[in-house]
Amino acid sequence: MKKQKILVIVKAYPEKSTKYDSSICTAGLTENSEWIRIYPIRLNIFQKSQNILKKWNWIEAKIEKSNEKLNRKESYKVDERSIRLINSELTKTYRKNTWDERNKILLPLLKKSREELEFLKLTEDISIGLIKPKSFEFYIRKPINEINVIENKISQLTLEGTKIRIPDEIGNFFAYKFKCDDPNCKGHDTICEDWEIREAFRSWRKRYEDSETLKEKLIEKFQTFMESRDLYFIMGTTNPYNKWVIIGLYYPPKIIQNKRKSSLDQFVKS
Ligand SMILES: [Zn+2]
Repeated sequence: MKKQKILVIVKAYPEKSTKYDSSICTAGLTENSEWIRIYPIRLNIFQKSQNILKKWNWIEAKIEKSNEKLNRKESYKVDERSIRLINSELTKTYRKNTWDERNKILLPLLKKSREELEFLKLTEDISIGLIKPKSFEFYIRKPINEINVIENKISQLTLEGTKIRIPDEIGNFFAYKFKCDDPNCKGHDTICEDWEIREAFRSWRKRYEDSETLKEKLIEKFQTFMESRDLYFIMGTTNPYNKWVIIGLYYPPKIIQNKRKSSLDQFVKS
C-alpha cells in the first residue's frame, strides 16, 4: 500500500453493504488533481474520524488499487486505520479566500456535460466527473410520508468497546432532473447520493412533523437556495450497474456574471 494525500470532496450517506456492514464511500482529489474514490470505510472508523473525513479536509491514507469487478479507474481500497488529517484550511468558509481556492482546485476539472462524461467513460474508463447543469429541478420521487426510514436508536458496541450510533436507514428518493449545456442533451433524471440531503431529511423530519412543511423546507434548501448559488454536480458511476448518479453537490456563491463566463470559458476548452 502507498501513502496518498487526498482532498475530500464527496461524502455519501452510509449504505448497508452485505460485505462490510454499513460502509461509507468517499471521493476526492489527489495532489495531481485526479479523482479518487476510497472505500470501504466501516462505520465505527467513520464515526471516530467524523472530523477527519469532512468535505474539504486534506487527509492522508494508505491505499491500493481496488480489485472491484467494474474496474473503475478511480477506485482504491483504503486502509481505514491509516487515515489521518493533514490540513483543514479549506473547510473554513469564514476565511476570505476559501471559495476562491476551492474553485481554483475544482473548476478546472469541469466537463461540458453528462454526455461528455459518458463518452469519457467509454473511451477512458472514467467514473467520476464534475459538470454544471444548465437547469435543474430537485424533486422527491415518493410522497414524503411514504419514504421508508429505519431508525436505529440503539448504539452498537464495536470490537474495541466503543459505542457508536448506527445511522438511520433512509430510502433514497431524492433526485434532480437536469439539462446540460449541450445541444445533444435530452435531459436527465437521477438520484442524488450526497450526504447532505438525507442528513437534512433525517434531522428535519423531527423538527417539522407536518410532511408538507418538511417537503417545503427540503425544496427551499435543495432548489431555491441552490438557484441562488452556482450549482455543480459531482457525478459518479455506482456499483454494480456502472450508471451515473449525482454523488455530490458543489455550490459556491455566484460570482459576477462576466468574471464567471470568462473563467468558465477558460476551463471548458474541450
Ligand atoms: Zn445532458
